[in-house]
Amino acid sequence: AKQNGHNHFQFYVASIDQEIRDRKQLEKDLSQALANHQLHLVYQPQINLESKRVIGAEALLRWEHPTRGMVPPDTFIPVAEANGSIVEIGQWVLDQACWQAARWASDGTPLRIAVNLSAVQLRQETIVDDILDTLRRHKIPAGRLELEVTETSFMTNLSDAVAKLHRLNRAGISIAVDDFGTGYSSLTYLKQMPVQHLKIDKQFIQDLLVNEEDTRIANTIIDLGKSLNLSVVAEGVETAEQEYYLSQRGCQLAQGYFFSKPLPPHEFETFVKGFHEQ
Ligand code: C2E
Ligand code: CA
Ligand code: CA
Ligand code: CA
Repeated sequence: AKQNGHNHFQFYVASIDQEIRDRKQLEKDLSQALANHQLHLVYQPQINLESKRVIGAEALLRWEHPTRGMVPPDTFIPVAEANGSIVEIGQWVLDQACWQAARWASDGTPLRIAVNLSAVQLRQETIVDDILDTLRRHKIPAGRLELEVTETSFMTNLSDAVAKLHRLNRAGISIAVDDFGTGYSSLTYLKQMPVQHLKIDKQFIQDLLVNEEDTRIANTIIDLGKSLNLSVVAEGVETAEQEYYLSQRGCQLAQGYFFSKPLPPHEFETFVKGFHEQ
């Protein structure tokens, strides 16, 4: 038995060792991904459920790795946050998304663009100026940019986060609380935070109408949004039943595979045209 235990232990160490090497390699590859043009953005339409219009798009990052293929953002964003490279990557995302928004505006389709902002980015001292500079460079009105932040962004330094979000708000940028209800939600934060939108995480939408708890949670977030005068966006809407329920329940905005998966810019433009012709 002892022998077995020993072997087991060695196997265990070897696999951790492998994991560390994998992660180091991933970090190294990621540090070159920007320069090697392996990153790009896809855009998922956000739909107004009342008017049935596409009101904007969420920009989502994609990494096409030369040998691994598509690496999901849930795998590499945490790595980029841990080593700080999210600051540079996030600035690239913002730049790229604003460039795209300017293109769409000049083509006669002025859409709001939602960009995910990491808690690590929000902690940067120059972040507000960097964002405002980016808007100016691309001549994008601030009202056309929405920043999606998670509740963890508020946790490390609440007053610093509040001050920065206030500055962004005063400039005309709107703020959405992403993954609402999955983190350390606190109604105190919501009261203090200059936010305009709540995003219901897809984990509560997935089993909407099937799972009673999830349905109640979604209802509660919609009601909370109403009473605090925040618009509510449902994420991960995949079925007509979910769409119907949410729109009846008073949720104004939705995104999800039911409408469209995230798309490259050209396909996104085609989608918008087709959707509005329906
Ligand atoms: P998120 O911000 O909560 O984004 C929503 C995720 O749900 C996206 O996954 C999207 O593709 C996916 N999704 C949308 N509709 C549906 C649906 O109907 N069904 C299902 N099952 N999924 C749907 P994605 O693109 O893999 O991104 C994962 C996460 O990575 C994002 O979650 C966000 O936290 C992070 N991320 C992506 N791009 C960026 C970025 O540019 N910056 C930062 N900081 N984080 C990003
Ligand atoms: Ca998001
Ligand atoms: Ca989410
Ligand atoms: Ca997320």
